[in-house]
Amino acid sequence: MKQDSPSAQKIVPVLVPLPAAKPYSYSVPDGMDVKAGSIVRVPLGPREVAGIVTEGATDSVDAKKLRPISELFDCPPVDDGMMRFMRWAADYTISPPGMVARMTLRVPAAFDPEPPVPGLRFSGQQPERMTGARSRVLELAGDGLAWTRTGLAHAAGVSATVIDGLSAQGVFEDVMIPARPVVAPPDPDYAPAELSGDQADAARQLVDAVSARGFSVSLLDGVTGSGKTEVYFEAVAKAIEQGKQVLILLPEIALTQQFLERFHDRFGSKPAEWHSDLAPKTRERVWRQVMEGQVRVVAGARSALFLPFQDLGLIIVDEEHDPAYKQEDRVFYNARDMAVVRGHIGSFPVILASATPSVESQVNALQGRYTRIRLTGRYAEAAMPDLKAIDMRRSPPRPGGFLSPALVEAMNQTLQRKEQSLLFLNRRGYAPLTLCRVCGHRFQCPCCSSWLVEHRFRGQLVCHQCGHHEARPEACPSCGTLDHLVACGPGVERIAEEAEKTFPDARIIVLSSDLMGVKRLRLELDAIARGEADIVIGTQLVAKGHNFPNMTLVGVVDADLGLANGDPRAAERTFQLLSQVTGRAGRTGKKSLGLLQTYQPNHPVMRAIVSGDAEAFYAREIEERERSGLPPYGRLGALIISAGTRAEAENHARALRRAAPHSPEINVLGPAEAPLALIRGRHRFRLLIHGTRKADIQNFIRAILSAGPKERGSVRVQIDIDPQSFL
Ligand code: ADP
Ligand code: ZN
Repeated sequence: MKQDSPSAQKIVPVLVPLPAAKPYSYSVPDGMDVKAGSIVRVPLGPREVAGIVTEGATDSVDAKKLRPISELFDCPPVDDGMMRFMRWAADYTISPPGMVARMTLRVPAAFDPEPPVPGLRFSGQQPERMTGARSRVLELAGDGLAWTRTGLAHAAGVSATVIDGLSAQGVFEDVMIPARPVVAPPDPDYAPAELSGDQADAARQLVDAVSARGFSVSLLDGVTGSGKTEVYFEAVAKAIEQGKQVLILLPEIALTQQFLERFHDRFGSKPAEWHSDLAPKTRERVWRQVMEGQVRVVAGARSALFLPFQDLGLIIVDEEHDPAYKQEDRVFYNARDMAVVRGHIGSFPVILASATPSVESQVNALQGRYTRIRLTGRYAEAAMPDLKAIDMRRSPPRPGGFLSPALVEAMNQTLQRKEQSLLFLNRRGYAPLTLCRVCGHRFQCPCCSSWLVEHRFRGQLVCHQCGHHEARPEACPSCGTLDHLVACGPGVERIAEEAEKTFPDARIIVLSSDLMGVKRLRLELDAIARGEADIVIGTQLVAKGHNFPNMTLVGVVDADLGLANGDPRAAERTFQLLSQVTGRAGRTGKKSLGLLQTYQPNHPVMRAIVSGDAEAFYAREIEERERSGLPPYGRLGALIISAGTRAEAENHARALRRAAPHSPEINVLGPAEAPLALIRGRHRFRLLIHGTRKADIQNFIRAILSAGPKERGSVRVQIDIDPQSFL
């Protein structure tokens, strides 16, 4: 901050939620006490926006143009660690710092404290005349605690006029009740689990890491059902004891009701939740109470990383390998990697947990940067499912079907034992492609280069890129022939149809995000856990974190599905997803089976899953990455150039390519038309920046952007450091 002389106006830089390269300067009105981290309201053109006062020099602004800060919110300043983290994140992802600040400033209504609500308290004065209703009220309120008028009336089962009558006689005095905490504080000693020997060893190492109070990364690596959650809860307990705040990141928080309940069982209260599905009021309260330090533990989706913790002391990233941690919108970031950085900046431990750790984390553990902590077996009598590949070339389904006789037979036996089967297919809808049998016309999205997916329950053809939908016609729009449209390939709805035909008496549930909202989904998941379905058919959301005690068969309808795209992580992803899905089976000691339908039974992924030799699989993947210089042995960055016309996008991409400096450590690949060449009417090209491990690809990309043409007209350039998706 700059202050030339005592009498000179104080000027501070403020990050405003805009894609500007630098903070804007504002003057500080006399008597306003702002510092780095203060959240303020500032004028911006004709509007007013919230911003964060930051550090550093301010640009010299013409005194006439300089405008004052309008208001300092009644809110603690953003903590120094968080300020440094935001700066780092902006730098690393090559994002405008204001756009990173915007992720923290999402909840403007929480910048001022939640106002206390008016309430009543027993004054000690007895009513002139006692009635039944009045005595019920006084029974509740007689101990002198504050109540709201309607709350007390409701609890006592009387009408509010009874309360008003008592107030009029001076029986109650008016008080203000402070805002209610969103969750009660967790009790670290509430109900610790009795850990097995292995688990206790692992927990001790994690607790030691927390006790050490410095930065460290532990990779908690244990098969599904080995008790990773129970084990890391001990580290959470330690951090709570230390008076620190804790963040637990989960890939699919909206669905992990079971997790919240387990946390409650262990700590006597739930953690605060943070995800996109929260009601606005709850969102504001959680943000505010995290900021004030009242909320001790948050369980959240990736965006929880940008909550304004005051005294964060531990982050846990559960299912650290999960692709859902990558945000690909505005600021492209990987929350797992950012969590590690946050721990480094704040000097506290980070725990990454997974049954199938990412290759990146495996290598970090191998090279000694992370401490690997293993849990080898499943807890108690639960055994891993027996895993087998079904060779679809030898055991093909009946014509028009997708379930092989071997899988159908296993389902049949499971039904007879009154146990549950799960059929997994990572494809929503009925069929991924519809075509006309007469002229060959294929239904394609008018705005995207993707086929329309038939959703038969809704009677629509839907684009999974942009959401475009249209009614499924009777006649082909191209040749006009009636009733000759055919569905090609399966989605979950079609598998459900086949299962219904094959097992007409079975209770079948289809779980797919497009068929129901989160609330309904939670209910369905609970119902399944209670045994209220025989066959569950679902997309990947069934794979995540649920315990279905009676599920003893998992059938993967198309194990090859994820292998076909040009993604360098395809094998790793498929291995992780299939391990996770088959890990749903046999969580309670019953003998269980996982069957993978595949046309490539000799593919290394299938062999690794069936043999259970994950180590050999990873060794091979790691060797492959090292040989080709791919992450973590090399670095990748992507530029995605899109525009309203193909020519504009392509020309801009070529011009950026030409602007690339020369570097012995960095190669630029492309531009190439993106595999998804058209999304929402925008044509897309990609440049891939591939560097050695030491290469500074951020500076290289900055050099391209500053030497190359600027975004103009309809052209947009997105920057994706460490891309996970290559579409
Ligand atoms: P993971 O996170 O490794 O998949 P979980 O922590 O979900 O494993 O544990 C699997 C199941 O075993 C859960 O139902 C959990 O409650 C139970 N469990 C694991 N360890 C213990 C323990 N020490 N005491 C009681 N139950 C346990
Ligand atoms: Zn579309």
